[in-house]
Amino acid sequence: MSQQYPHLLSELDLGFTKLKNRVIMGSMHLGLEEDKDFSKLATFYKERAEGGVGLIVTGGIAPDIFGWTKPFSAKLTNQREVQKHRQVTSAVHDAGGKIAMQILHTGRYGFHPLILGPSKIQSPITPFKPHAMSEFFIKMTINHYARCAKLAKNAGYDGVEIMGSEGYLINQFIAKKTNQRTDGWGGSFENRIKFALDIVRKVKASVGNEFIIIFRLSMLDLVEDGSTIDEVLQLACELENAGVTIISTGIGWHEARVPTIATSIPRAAFAQITEKLRGAVNLPIVAVNRINTPEVAEDILAKNQADLVAMARPMLADSHLVQKAMDGKADEINTCIACNQACLDHLFKGQKASCLVNPRAVQEMELNYLPTQLVKNIAVIGGGVAGISCATILASRGHKVTIYEAKDKLGGQFNLAKNIPGKEEFKETLRYFNKQIELHNVLVKLNANIDADYLQKANYDEVVIATGVLPRVPNIDGISHRKVLHYPDVLSGKVAVGEKVAIIGAGGIGFDMGEFLLYDSEEMLKIDNYYQEWGIDASIKHAGGLLPNQVHEAPIREIYLLQRKEGKLGAGLGKTTGWIHRASLKNKNVKMLAGVTYRKIDDDGLHITIADKEYTLDVDNVVLCAGQESVNQLYKDLDGKIDNLHLIGGAHIAKELDAKFAIREGAELAAKL
Ligand code: NAP
Ligand code: SF4
Repeated sequence: MSQQYPHLLSELDLGFTKLKNRVIMGSMHLGLEEDKDFSKLATFYKERAEGGVGLIVTGGIAPDIFGWTKPFSAKLTNQREVQKHRQVTSAVHDAGGKIAMQILHTGRYGFHPLILGPSKIQSPITPFKPHAMSEFFIKMTINHYARCAKLAKNAGYDGVEIMGSEGYLINQFIAKKTNQRTDGWGGSFENRIKFALDIVRKVKASVGNEFIIIFRLSMLDLVEDGSTIDEVLQLACELENAGVTIISTGIGWHEARVPTIATSIPRAAFAQITEKLRGAVNLPIVAVNRINTPEVAEDILAKNQADLVAMARPMLADSHLVQKAMDGKADEINTCIACNQACLDHLFKGQKASCLVNPRAVQEMELNYLPTQLVKNIAVIGGGVAGISCATILASRGHKVTIYEAKDKLGGQFNLAKNIPGKEEFKETLRYFNKQIELHNVLVKLNANIDADYLQKANYDEVVIATGVLPRVPNIDGISHRKVLHYPDVLSGKVAVGEKVAIIGAGGIGFDMGEFLLYDSEEMLKIDNYYQEWGIDASIKHAGGLLPNQVHEAPIREIYLLQRKEGKLGAGLGKTTGWIHRASLKNKNVKMLAGVTYRKIDDDGLHITIADKEYTLDVDNVVLCAGQESVNQLYKDLDGKIDNLHLIGGAHIAKELDAKFAIREGAELAAKL
């Protein structure tokens, strides 16, 4: 076993049971919880248990229908449902793991008309107004938590996690913002935490002493009228007295306008917040959010900021993260880049979760990379992420694979993405892919301009074309003017950019360009700067941990971001991250203009028309971020001339091309050949 992570890999003795290491797979809804049978869910968790994680916490399961996330979402209220859950617990136990079930009552965050809350105050992120809970409903709900925990125990779980953070029902009782009751469940802090404490006591009474009870405690609400540090610590002490086994921490309500898990948030940004529980309680405490590598986790534990770390998305990206750390193979970990594109963004669209860097996540029964029965000689043309994903999986299955790349390095668009402030994590995917190439002996030919003639003569068994995309150059008068810059040249640092800039195109890359021109990568990685940028009070003396006055540094450039469409800029960006990009640029006074017609570019700048009015933007540079076009000439040249020809990634579909699609298409083809 590796000696590299002594704290992370050490056992935790809870008295009545032991966890084999300090890694919890944090709760995350997968979209499998509503399936008729739990075979997919069981397979998903079984792989994570085999991958060595100390304790798994399931996605949230409602204690009754009022706590549903949406109509007919997962609940545990009767014996029939217990049978389904047994499939999950046995699979995890057979693999040597431990698993706790999260009990989640969404309160006013539910997407259905039955939602409840301490008071009749609608949340800004749901279309329904909650019914204010009567005393009868409060007591019934507490009993439902206890019933749910008992059923979870019957189903074979090793414990439960009571979700008390992120702005869900329990948190709604705790905070003044959402609890304006005047009876014994509202008013003073003691009254507002009574609901949480009564739930813990009832749960404890129903499951006994030899069952893990984790309470997810909101350390930093990041909403107005949230808790202060004194209140958080008082609640933590009371939770300990009420019988909790472990306190896990929660950062930020879902409605908070402060990003807490996006890729631009520095790693381990909240470990110092969790650390505030030290001394206040004698329970194991769990650090959360933006912990994505064993190094980061080890550092938190070595500094004694927490006893355990929770990682949810990193376990989607790599089921064997812990095992690889144990084997001294951390460089083989497929690291979560915190993009949210295939996990949370999918869930918000009602789809099943998956993972951008690991398309097998949540597809464990459908997408398998099995050893090949017939070894083939395969050429992959193009070393962007689609090509690498395909080539490395093909080679891992036993095929002989050669990648031909026209440039002098592999990685394609990821080589640009990693240069954007807040997207440094993309380097990890390149590191992972390069390691896979090495491990599976993929032959790499760089600076290789391959043509159809060569491939026809080479006689490969299969040829995969992954030649990617080229930036679109719009047809605007003056497009060749010296002021005009192309985004790859800017992002790769080949050209200097002036102080006044117009960006043509407000898709993902247009927004990225704005951040590239306004922020500094190194500065953005500093936790204190992140706190300042988003107005976080690390002392939590102010309610909810929000500073009363948010101060932004003056922008280093004056920027216009433009699109031809009417409507909000960035509307097509990810649901969970688009608002962050918009806020980051607004904080730097970027002028966002929609409904633009581009007339011409000349020495005076960019001439545009909006609503029949003409304007000249006096800018030093115009940066083109106007989307992509497929590079597929090689495919066209070969089509019909050789058998077993395949087209993937941006070369296949450039419109709305993103890395998620490219990596998945490469993987799906590689699983089949
Ligand atoms: P994109 O999202 O398709 O955006 C292209 C932009 O260019 C649009 O704003 C479009 O708006 C404009 N445009 C298109 N044709 C034009 C023309 N002929 N003249 C002038 N403007 C034109 O493409 P992208 O920004 O290159 O991004 C590529 C892919 O990577 C996308 O799928 C994107 O979502 C993904 N990506 C995502 C992120 C993220 O943060 N999630 C970051 C980077 C990239 P109008 O047509 O209205 O002018
Ligand atoms: Fe992490 Fe992105 Fe995968 Fe989600 S989709 S698990 S954020 S890498």
